[in-house]
Amino acid sequence: MYTKIIATVGPASRSPEILFKLMEAGVRIFRLNFSHGDAGSFGELIMQIRELEKKIGEPVTILQDLSGPKIRIGVLDEDSISVVRGSRVALGKRRKDGHGALPFIPFDNQNVLDSLEPGDKVVLADGNLQFSIAERAAPDLFILEAENAGFVTSRKGLALPGKMLKLPALTEKDKKDLAEGLALGIDAVAISFVQTPEDVLEAKALIRQCGKDVPVVVKLERQAGVERLDAILPVTDMVMVARGDLGVECPLSLLPAMQKRIIRACNKAAKPVIVATQMLLSMVNAPSPTRAETTDVANAVLDGADCVMLSEETAMGNYPVKSVQMMREIASRAEELLFEEEPHGVPPENRSASEFLAYCACLLAHKAQAAAMIAHTLSGKSARLLSAQRPHRIVHALTPVPEVVKALNFSWGVRPWLWHGDETIHSHVERVESFIDANPVFAAGDTIIITAGQMRQGQRFSGTNLVKIFNK
Ligand code: ATP
Ligand code: MG
Ligand code: MG
Repeated sequence: MYTKIIATVGPASRSPEILFKLMEAGVRIFRLNFSHGDAGSFGELIMQIRELEKKIGEPVTILQDLSGPKIRIGVLDEDSISVVRGSRVALGKRRKDGHGALPFIPFDNQNVLDSLEPGDKVVLADGNLQFSIAERAAPDLFILEAENAGFVTSRKGLALPGKMLKLPALTEKDKKDLAEGLALGIDAVAISFVQTPEDVLEAKALIRQCGKDVPVVVKLERQAGVERLDAILPVTDMVMVARGDLGVECPLSLLPAMQKRIIRACNKAAKPVIVATQMLLSMVNAPSPTRAETTDVANAVLDGADCVMLSEETAMGNYPVKSVQMMREIASRAEELLFEEEPHGVPPENRSASEFLAYCACLLAHKAQAAAMIAHTLSGKSARLLSAQRPHRIVHALTPVPEVVKALNFSWGVRPWLWHGDETIHSHVERVESFIDANPVFAAGDTIIITAGQMRQGQRFSGTNLVKIFNK
């Protein structure tokens, strides 16, 4: 299993039976969307997943997805407002003296109102209705002009394509959910609507304050976030191409190239990247996907995604298990195509020594036709560097740190193992060799490439500095 599958848990998949079938079909990461629940409603589910994790005997990661500041309009005075291209409406705070003759859309988010300017685009209802701001009629009242026809109804989502809002990615609800989720033992946290590196640093600080060390997934669903990816990548652990809201904010035609650019940047930085939303959406109601969906999943794998994600399909669909099986099948077939190509071309010069070491290890594994690779790793970084080379064999990552095991589940082609090794053996390499000898996953006669840190006498720590060929 190289490409990892993330399944969102919802009413269609909450039972232990379905959860276990999802695991058998290959899911090792479950996503709990805190837009649709809280610690109270997810607590029992988390315990269930932990029980099933023991049963399957492999690490299972629980990803908490925080809601973030989803912006919505208020409740209309009428059932709906009908607009045609060129229609004008007023949007803003309610006023005692009325809002003039125009239809009125109540909206009282002061942060957003402060940031609006004439000429801005405003999008309602998941992109179905597009407006531009014609004028500011009062400090908190704007006149909008419709760019297409449709109906506005109450409580619709409001998006400002490309606009940098003064909104923090973490709301008060998110902070509470995060603290409670951490207390329940979630393994990773996804933050929604990230726009700046500071959003990520704030989440990391909160996680530290709770005494935990779990990785952060940045959900790129704002154009502003995508534009700042270079600054965000160094501070985040992972990235999600969250195509739902991103497709609302940006012209849909930009999405495919954007997905590829984001993935390329993440691969280069050796940070796991997830492709999410509508991957097999028609399988909510049908036992097989459309041709376009199968191609979408395969293309995500070929683009270089570490993980592909299911949302509605497993949360509320009629075929949660079939969706995972189908995704597994498509991903495996796409991997075969990846493997037809010669890997490990000459790397660019401006790389660090540890990246070259990973490159050499993968080249060696390929040329020596090794059965597998093993990385002994404390932080997980050397396993991620190997994974980023997309070697055509599984990277077994041995680490004594439980958090690192859970984090490495996101990395393409990595099988993490919680492993302490025999403390009486000083040499890390020898410890790894004893692991291989004792583990039936590796057959007698297998060639295995090991990367590890070889410490000098008296040294307590060294980075990864050694590649070895081992024959079992
Ligand atoms: P996001 O923008 O965070 O993806 P979403 O509303 O699209 O939010 P998803 O997690 O993608 O939510 O799930 C798709 C749909 O599945 C949700 O809109 C909701 O109807 C349903 N769903 C997901 N999780 C749950 C849950 N725990 N309980 C009930 N329904 C859920
Ligand atoms: Mg969202
Ligand atoms: Mg969604």
